[in-house]
Amino acid sequence: MHLPASLARLNFVSFAHTKAACRALAYVALIVGASGAIAASNSVPSRFELLRAQDLRVASVAYRLAIANKALCAPVLVPQLGFVLHSFEQYGPADREEAARSFGLGSHIGVMAIVAGSPAERAGLAAGDQLLSVNGRNLDAQPEESAPSRASVEHAQRILVEEMRRGAVTLLISSPGGDRELRFAAALGCPSNVELVPGDEVNAWADGSRVILSDGLLRRCATDDDLALVIGHEMAHNLLHHRRRLAAEGVSVNGLLALTEVESAEVRGTEEEADRFAVNLAMAAAYDLSDAETFIGALMRDGTTAATTHPDLPRRLALLHGAIVAAKQGIALAPRLSE
Ligand SMILES: [Zn+2]
Repeated sequence: MHLPASLARLNFVSFAHTKAACRALAYVALIVGASGAIAASNSVPSRFELLRAQDLRVASVAYRLAIANKALCAPVLVPQLGFVLHSFEQYGPADREEAARSFGLGSHIGVMAIVAGSPAERAGLAAGDQLLSVNGRNLDAQPEESAPSRASVEHAQRILVEEMRRGAVTLLISSPGGDRELRFAAALGCPSNVELVPGDEVNAWADGSRVILSDGLLRRCATDDDLALVIGHEMAHNLLHHRRRLAAEGVSVNGLLALTEVESAEVRGTEEEADRFAVNLAMAAAYDLSDAETFIGALMRDGTTAATTHPDLPRRLALLHGAIVAAKQGIALAPRLSE
């Protein structure tokens, strides 16, 4: 689970008004809650394992979407890590010791979860390993604040992707069996930087480069087919540069300003485009969208959908149905992607 740093969003369900600061508190609260559970019932390990399972589920679906759509994303391919990183500093100060013990996390960047079948996994990287360097470049960062922060993880991710862009990498890792080197070439795929944030809010959004998904929405995805549609929708917003396009037209998508009728129509247009593209992304990755209309219908009926910025339910379902039928007939939507 990760902290979002930006408010700007193109949502899956609605425009929410949560501020980043509130999310940081929620994040700490989640972990503090886990600590409380330990004292009471000794159940913390399972709570931390649940966090790991959730991160793995999200990373696995994002990875499959990214790889399966490689041809479509040819102009904008990026190396796919195939693993989720975490660091000591991203947990609340009071809970770091427990998080470290549960995850085998030390002073280095740790592997929270690893996608089965990824080149890193095949090379022998495993959850619980710590990363020391890539191609001789140190992956540690010096955290400057004691508040929960993802800065160290983002620093390491940036270096890893830089090195992976050049070709095969040599990773120096620290694992329970001692320090050792692994060598592999990361697979290339569509940009799909997905982060999971805690909270019961049922939503996901795209900030231009990342897809941010709430725990609440993840729990509503009964199957990975549902999850693929959600992640695909947000990936589509980023791949199609919707945020940039709307900003260029002067449309604010941070949910804090009221939109004019014309602006709302612009946003609805991007939402419909993202839904259509998501169907293609998910079906190219062999996800089964037979229940997609039921899933979206239930989500929107229960949600706080802002009618002005999203198509109404009958229209959204009709559009989804049409996109699925077209994709089954091999009529793929293939927008031209650019940097
Ligand atoms: Zn959207």
